Amino acid sequence: MIGPNALLQTIRGVGPKKAALFAKKELVTLRDAAEFYPFRYEDRRHLLRPSKIIQAPENALLTIRGHLRDVREIPLRGQKKKMVEAWLEDSADGADYGEDHGKNCRGDSANREASTDRADHRRRRVQLLWFNSYAGLLPRLQSLNSVVATGAVRFFRNQAQITHPELEPIREDGENLPQSLHWGRIVPIYSATQGLSQRSIREVIAQCLEVVVPVLEDELPDYIRQRYKLMPIQSAVREIHFPQGMESGLPEFNPKALHRLIFEEFFKFQLLLQMERQDNAQQQSAKLRVKNRYCQQARTELPFTLTNAQERVIIEILEDLQEEKPMHRLVQGDVGSGKTMVASLIALEAIDHGWQCALMAPTETLAEQHFINIEKLFCPLGIECALLTSSLRKKQKNSILRGIAAGSISLVVGTHAIIRDSIEWKQLRLAIIDEQHRFGVRQRMALRNRQQDEYTPHLLTMTATPIPRSLALTAFGDLDVSTIDELPANRKPIATKVLPGEERQKLYNLIHREVKLGRQAYLVFPLIKQSEAKGMEHLRGLEEEFEYLQKGPLKGLKLIALHGKTSTPERQEIMQNFKDGKYDVLLSTTVIEVGIDVPNATVMAVEHADRFGLSQLHQLRGRVGRGGHESFCVLVTDIQRPCDDQGILLFSEAMEDPSTTWKRLQAMEQSQDGFVLAEEDLKLRGPGDFLGTKQSGSPSFRLADLQRDREILESAQDAACSLLEEDPKLNLEKHQTIRQFFGRIRENLGETIHPG
Ligand code: ADP
Ligand code: MG
Repeated sequence: MIGPNALLQTIRGVGPKKAALFAKKELVTLRDAAEFYPFRYEDRRHLLRPSKIIQAPENALLTIRGHLRDVREIPLRGQKKKMVEAWLEDSADGADYGEDHGKNCRGDSANREASTDRADHRRRRVQLLWFNSYAGLLPRLQSLNSVVATGAVRFFRNQAQITHPELEPIREDGENLPQSLHWGRIVPIYSATQGLSQRSIREVIAQCLEVVVPVLEDELPDYIRQRYKLMPIQSAVREIHFPQGMESGLPEFNPKALHRLIFEEFFKFQLLLQMERQDNAQQQSAKLRVKNRYCQQARTELPFTLTNAQERVIIEILEDLQEEKPMHRLVQGDVGSGKTMVASLIALEAIDHGWQCALMAPTETLAEQHFINIEKLFCPLGIECALLTSSLRKKQKNSILRGIAAGSISLVVGTHAIIRDSIEWKQLRLAIIDEQHRFGVRQRMALRNRQQDEYTPHLLTMTATPIPRSLALTAFGDLDVSTIDELPANRKPIATKVLPGEERQKLYNLIHREVKLGRQAYLVFPLIKQSEAKGMEHLRGLEEEFEYLQKGPLKGLKLIALHGKTSTPERQEIMQNFKDGKYDVLLSTTVIEVGIDVPNATVMAVEHADRFGLSQLHQLRGRVGRGGHESFCVLVTDIQRPCDDQGILLFSEAMEDPSTTWKRLQAMEQSQDGFVLAEEDLKLRGPGDFLGTKQSGSPSFRLADLQRDREILESAQDAACSLLEEDPKLNLEKHQTIRQFFGRIRENLGETIHPG
């Protein structure tokens, strides 16, 4: 029997390749897929005839039934690629599709008989276009006859056209249309990934629901469901994917199913936060006495003075550390605002008092960079620091672990593996987490569980991806926030430009010019190797481009490549050499996203910038402009700049509309403010990234929107509070399901803390 925890591969039509694509979306089991909700719907209840499309409004999303004719390849001027064209026309019998399906397009056959002229003939047809055509597309289209096509219709010289339509062949047996998941109903649209079409996501999810829904247990206690009039979980999940009872009008989420699921998300999240808070109140941390010896000394060595904002935040943190209540403070400040410096000074003060500190970064590269910088500051003071990475030899690692246990090592830098590994500390009193948004509630809890004596470590987190104001209070009720709202005086705004792919030469010229001036450049790619995967063929891979640029546009410059697969010692060497100016251009994937600090670098160029989120681009941009030289950020995109009379429209449901892409990227030209960009990102991508819950498996907001759903949040908050008031430890029978839910979270946590 296949159960909800079975792997997706057990589903018909899912092989290892497809499973890997789903895994990219963190969909591994049938349950994962059932809980992967659509983000919008399309109303495809009505099927139209090609000859009626001429009356449709521009950009309308239509579902059309007809015959595919005249499929051919058309060469594109000046390009190797060809485009594929096909025409959709009314079925020969001219029959209507029945009252229900055809109600938007009354039969009109008199008019058709009269039409002999060619233009009119064209107008009765819909042109279908594929720009990024792939090898099998042409023969596949040629084999089709009767189809249902879906897409946004545009008019070019009065000709209706649809670019990259979704197509489904249908068997032509008269009136009786077969049932389909993809049309003749309200159809869910999921967040897609390259290589996975909406159709295949939909088909897989429909099969998963069959298995999962009948055995889905309601985790909300009955009395809460009744009090807040919430739909049972089984129908809610089914409805959210394939809405049946949706009222007419523009399709949106089914309000009742949506309400139920959002309530549950908020409810669990609030319970988790409240329980963490309860927990916190019982914890005790060590109290710091400020000595200001190391700190004083280190400051005199700095080539700059701290900004007022840095000074203010240091005081705020020191005040917390002098309390026995565990600190839980988030420092947010734009890239380059000097957060790491603040954290270093705080660590010095803590070490001065005899404490041990841990500094955790999201990637090994960043941890290494932190370590290099911190050693420079700490070594002269005679403080012993250690870098814990996965590439350490056993002997080295053991010697470090002994140093930590004995207390001779005062500061340990590493990835969050530090809190997973069972390290024995002499007295870990302060944990600093850099780039907080990548750490979840779960890691925070894991850290708390690391404590080995009566004292809980104080917790300081730092982020350059500011938590949007709309999120801060509700989601992090118990978190204190400090903001470094001032950049060091020597910073200049970074000239930012979105560059259409055809103009890449301008970028290469800029790089040559800057290198002549003695500066360095970064060039970032979304992929290590070019990929054959459908929809990704056009992306430039780091390795191929390296060859090409070295021999071509960047000939004569010293290039070096770095990516996630580079081994650790090699990576360290490359970074050091780049810092020392032995290379001019560093080609890299986003491993350099955070924390790399090479003041001499003045160009940050990002290939296929449309593939990145704004906060990510902003982070990347923050790698330059650190040395007081004029700096540049170039965002290259091959997405066509939208232009109305071009006649070529690169739009399909799997792709972002080009005008949105451009608008999004242009926000980077207009703003250097991480807050503004983060709010933009929030609109586009949802809050999961900020809460850090995506990776952590704790309840995350898949559907909830903190602004839109404020009222639901309030009732969920009420429900959570009164539940805990009545039953703080979740011991009552009626809370059994919710207790099990937390049990699962804790269990997962346990696994990560004590591996093996
Ligand atoms: P963040 O972590 O906020 O991105 P860092 O602390 O890494 O920023 O600082 C970025 C760079 O600016 C580092 O080279 C650091 O030494 C330098 N820096 C930090 N504070 C100041 C300051 N007040 N004035 C000038 N430079 C500073
Ligand atoms: Mg930093």
